Amino acid sequence: MIKEKVIRKLRVIPGKIIKLKSFETGWAQNEELKVYEKGVVKERATEILEANRLTLASSQELLWVDNIHSVLIVLQGMDTAGKDGTIRHVMSGVNPQGCRVCSFKVPTPDETDHNFLWRYSRDLPRRGEIGVFNRSYYEDVLVVKVHPELLEGQQLPSGKRGEKFWDARYEDINAFERHLVRNGTMILKFFLHISKDEQKKRILERLETEEKYWKFSLSDLDERAFWDAYQKVYETMFAKTSTDAAPWYIIPADYKWVARTLVADIISTRIQSLDLKYPVLSAEQLKAVESAREQLKKE
Ligand code: ADP
Repeated sequence: MIKEKVIRKLRVIPGKIIKLKSFETGWAQNEELKVYEKGVVKERATEILEANRLTLASSQELLWVDNIHSVLIVLQGMDTAGKDGTIRHVMSGVNPQGCRVCSFKVPTPDETDHNFLWRYSRDLPRRGEIGVFNRSYYEDVLVVKVHPELLEGQQLPSGKRGEKFWDARYEDINAFERHLVRNGTMILKFFLHISKDEQKKRILERLETEEKYWKFSLSDLDERAFWDAYQKVYETMFAKTSTDAAPWYIIPADYKWVARTLVADIISTRIQSLDLKYPVLSAEQLKAVESAREQLKKE
């Protein structure tokens, strides 16, 4: 397990205005790790990821048996930040029956015919489930804030679209999350933080490798031109929506193994903090189990 001290540095303190530039995108998130050689850290990280995959699988079973809590994992990041790969690696040991992944694209006309949170509430995990949102309601204060013309397609009542409008959206999101947390959902929000150089490398890789052509979308290049605007709206969003109940974690993601190890560790540690246990049977129930066992053996 990764030290709490390291994880604490990744968590955005509620209300704190942060600068993304002061958060690492590389492999050494703190001074302590910088003294080690990268290879050593990578090897250890792989071991930690493997251990957490196993822990996550058993935690999920307990979550399922308990059937009270659910876990909502929100993944955000610039294009190519590695959201899909992180989901694939971190969730690989988990029983697919208790886990669902939802990816959110540009809203359909049916979706914009409802309030902006509607489509996300429809796909929330049930009690006992782990739900992963690959993009989320945060897109409505990210891509939409960078491109406010998108609001025109959202069938909203007329009004100014200034800071007050956006503050209302942050407030709605916080209230929505508070409601979920109060009703048994644990919310973990991860921003996969890559550098602009790393994004260039990844987009080029998509353009230079035949098997990766399919991953390239022209919009990745268009959106890259808005890099600084995105960093700014992300910074505001962290300050407004990182709460004690549903904190944001800024995950260094230039190295995929770093991002995956950290995300897996945080998820598994947080679920374990629920301290779920298998149900304890009463004396009567134990007797029933015993007699059923005997009965079957006698067949
Ligand atoms: P991904 O990049 O997640 O693998 P796509 O290439 O299909 O998948 O991108 C999905 C697109 O949908 C992104 O450009 C994202 O900004 C956009 N999108 C998601 N949610 C919204 C929203 N609420 N409003 C407008 N655009 C959105």
